[in-house]
Amino acid sequence: MGKNGALNGPDTLNVAVIGAGPAGYYTAEALTGTDQSVNVDIIDRLPTPFGLIRAGVAPDHQSIKNVSRRYEATNQRDNVRFVGNLSLGRDITLTELRELYDAVVLATGAGKDRPLRIEGEDLHGVIGSGAFVGWYNAHPDYKDLQPDLRVASVAVIGNGNVAVDVARVLAKTASEMSSSDLADHAANSIHGSPIKDIYILGRRGPLEASFTPKELGELNRLENCVALVDGSQLPDEATGETLAGAAKKNMAALRTMAANTPDMKPVRLHLQFYRRPMAILGEKCVCGIRLEETRVEDGKCIGTGVTEVLPAGLIVPCIGYRTSPIPDVPYSERYGHFENEDGRIDDGLYCVGWAKRGPTGTIGTNKPDGVEVAQKILSEVHASGKAGRAGLDHVVKERDLHIVTFQTWKKIEASEEASAAAGAPRKKLVDVNEMVRIAES
Ligand code: NAP
Repeated sequence: MGKNGALNGPDTLNVAVIGAGPAGYYTAEALTGTDQSVNVDIIDRLPTPFGLIRAGVAPDHQSIKNVSRRYEATNQRDNVRFVGNLSLGRDITLTELRELYDAVVLATGAGKDRPLRIEGEDLHGVIGSGAFVGWYNAHPDYKDLQPDLRVASVAVIGNGNVAVDVARVLAKTASEMSSSDLADHAANSIHGSPIKDIYILGRRGPLEASFTPKELGELNRLENCVALVDGSQLPDEATGETLAGAAKKNMAALRTMAANTPDMKPVRLHLQFYRRPMAILGEKCVCGIRLEETRVEDGKCIGTGVTEVLPAGLIVPCIGYRTSPIPDVPYSERYGHFENEDGRIDDGLYCVGWAKRGPTGTIGTNKPDGVEVAQKILSEVHASGKAGRAGLDHVVKERDLHIVTFQTWKKIEASEEASAAAGAPRKKLVDVNEMVRIAES
């Protein structure tokens, strides 16, 4: 419970946080954790809270999702409110929100796939990780994506944790996913697919890869799939000796892979380094990818001019994300997030999380980020008697909007839990209208 109730007195600061993901919740927690009188409405276009915890974290990484309990606790505070199914731009404008609240914080994440900018990337069968992960995680935006997995070979581009997640989810068997909340449509498609070869392609080397040891190590423990690495791509023993921390652990996992053989399991996961995507090949659908061999000098990827074609019926670039621009909000095309100074965009307008700093860091990285932006708001913005949540309620009523509150979201959650298969935490709903119907039942 916050130190102040939800009363909107003349000294109460009214803040709207747009986006109910980790960055939004950590900001709300910090804003309402001081002696100052602050009301926070956390607004999300989806009827479900928790952003990437629900729709980004891999379905077989349930323990990571437990952090949502902390956000639930924040939501128990009288002065914090979740307002789901309210879309900025569709239901209310930013200008209107800025009139209603003393401060608006954009915690909208980075939901758009960064483009590869190579020939063929628009071909059918090239699906960016934002869409692909959204699809297997039952994000309503991607419920109809229907990627064609009736392919023998998949190329996953990138050497980050998202690439590892995508490859692992494609490689795991139905029994390995039985305690996950993998979307039903994805389970049917993935577990019925004839995929035999999955490639994770890095444009630089193993030392430059950004995946973390825990995630990489999991690839060595798959039931049906053997992870393979060409040992000649790994650093020599002398370099290996000098490594420490994550790099050392990653190298140990990669050395295990280098000792594996393709015949050990029915499906093969090939980690190939020093391969830069040049063009995606195919007429209407993808049939392969042209790669250029590279070398790394001073950390930079240098093409050698030697190319090869890798056959693949599905290509999933996992090369990072961009924040969706919002009209009239300054945006850095170069970095793909809002232009800001330590979170401040304009008077009374702030951003946090990936929308502020780009798509890097773990969930926990958003905590100090949220605290910093909250402190900035508390020191810079003063209560000015704005209508805040009462004003929003008025707009909701006037426009007949069907918002979902934290209490009514709990009905959606209960429904998902009640229909879960044995051992699974939930069976995710994918249809917004159905979710709203349950919330209003
Ligand atoms: P990331 O870690 O930044 O990795 C992106 C990868 O894409 C890099 O290997 C990068 O190579 C490569 N890349 C970028 N542009 C490319 C291009 N044009 N052609 C070929 N390769 C290209 O990003 P991410 O995997 O999307 O993850 C985002 C953040 O979420 C990360 O901080 C990650 O750790 C976090 N995350 C964490 C977990 C977890 O903890 N379990 C799970 C998922 C995501 P270069 O390095 O050469 O640029």
